[in-house]
Amino acid sequence: MSKLIALTFDDGPNTDTTLDVLEKLKKYDVVATFFLIADAINDRSAESVKKAIAMGCEIENHSKTHSYMDQLDEQTIKDEIKYTSEKIFEITGRMPEFFRPPYINVNETMVQAIDLPFICGHGGRDWEPDCPTDERASLILNAVSDGSIILLHDMSGNDKTVAALDIIIPELQKQGYEFVTVSQIFIRKGITPTVHSGIVYSDVTQTIRFDDPNYEG
Ligand SMILES: [Zn+2]
Repeated sequence: MSKLIALTFDDGPNTDTTLDVLEKLKKYDVVATFFLIADAINDRSAESVKKAIAMGCEIENHSKTHSYMDQLDEQTIKDEIKYTSEKIFEITGRMPEFFRPPYINVNETMVQAIDLPFICGHGGRDWEPDCPTDERASLILNAVSDGSIILLHDMSGNDKTVAALDIIIPELQKQGYEFVTVSQIFIRKGITPTVHSGIVYSDVTQTIRFDDPNYEG
């Protein structure tokens, strides 16, 4: 069985960095999963989403407003998720199956209010403008293993992450990894992701809750 990895990107869509990421995916013939902010979707950025879908990528839910959702009440949380999933459905014809909490900020109200598995991932500090390209790549390459999810950002202007893909993807391909979407990594590993469990998956085999002292994100 081949080693599997899921590349994911948060905070799109846009018409610069999202498209640059898609070019890198095409260059290496790999797929990724994009967690969208509904308020970032407009007629132009939706074209980037359609392009991603045509390449076999997957589109998932990263909330409407990208707020600290532990500050929101249950109904507002539900409204954020529903609005975003419906907005994505309008473009893709598919309802999102996964949720990534903004800032990986989670509380019990969110766990109970949101009917989707929560996804985190191994990050490369790529939301910090000063974190250099090679460090973004090495942080990820040192953290991942078979069944891991990689957390990056295609926010506008994040060129160092686009450049880091030229290190990350070929190195993992050389190590024998196959790149798959988030839904596929669970299916191929024979694991059903749980909902309302408090698990925030960075690896498909994860079993501890977000509030467990041993949880490392
Ligand atoms: Zn985000």
